[in-house]
Amino acid sequence: MEEHVFGSTAVNVRVIGQGTWQMENDDRAGAVRALQVGLELGLTHLDTAELYGRGRVEESIVAEAIAGRRDEVFLVSKVMPSHGTYEGTLKACERSLQRLKTDRLDCYLLHWPGSHPLEDTIRAFEKLVKDGKLRSWGVSNFSVPELEEAVQIAGPGRIACNQVLYHLEERTIERNVLPWCERANIAVVGYSPFGNGDFPGPRTQGGRILASIAQAHGATPHQVALRFLIRRPSLFAIPKASREVHARDNAAALSLHLSAEELARIDGAFPVGPDTGELSII
Ligand code: NAP
Repeated sequence: MEEHVFGSTAVNVRVIGQGTWQMENDDRAGAVRALQVGLELGLTHLDTAELYGRGRVEESIVAEAIAGRRDEVFLVSKVMPSHGTYEGTLKACERSLQRLKTDRLDCYLLHWPGSHPLEDTIRAFEKLVKDGKLRSWGVSNFSVPELEEAVQIAGPGRIACNQVLYHLEERTIERNVLPWCERANIAVVGYSPFGNGDFPGPRTQGGRILASIAQAHGATPHQVALRFLIRRPSLFAIPKASREVHARDNAAALSLHLSAEELARIDGAFPVGPDTGELSII
């Protein structure tokens, strides 16, 4: 099953994973089942955060989904910037580990840049790595200047990934963040790959192009979109699916392959927006 090396970690990670934001609003048993089916079908990169449902997603959904299969999962969680002091980060990580009923995370991210000194958060991340509680750490919603500061503090080869907004109608990262991360060997994990549910419909020109490519492969437009979003070795996507049918659909995209001509048609239908110099955040 298709994997890419996760930035500087040298660990192979499935290119399509599973998000968990807002799952606390969905049917709990259905969401747990969807995650379990996704894991069975190879969507083993699982993304969560202390923020989601104020810990409830980690505690009552993800913990149950990964129970008995922890070693198969590449488990990612995030510390809120308001907890980003040295002690705050250590404590937040402990709480996440307890809620998730595990002894380690595969990657731990600063959810977005905050007001506490980044040196302190990074020092805590490195302590957690040394103590065996983290396999790696990364950042989220970091622009190029913020990444530069982080690398200056941490040194090269320490930041595993930058998790950023990336979907067909929001490709701003391709201007600066993606090439910068590729040069620095930092994985780029695209969040909200379906626009948080606002997906190009069949009445739009882009939607029609997705549908025609999908039809040629017996696939769905969502699967075609996912394939486009992971077309480079640095890229990963983490769609969220609380319904089993969606988890199955996303997993099947692991075995879909698009031609260069099809990728070029999608590229033309969803142009990269103007360079505003700003990083888009959901
Ligand atoms: P998303 O993945 O872009 O879209 C989720 C929506 O798409 C849900 O309504 C889902 O339905 C639907 N869906 C999923 N698979 C589908 C399929 N195959 N066909 C049709 N519909 C499908 O939304 P997101 O939750 O915003 O982003 C994904 C993950 O990225 C989050 O869950 C979170 O883990 C992460 N994220 C991170 C940040 C950050 O700041 N780092 C910010 C936002 C998101 P059902 O749920 O009903 O199945």
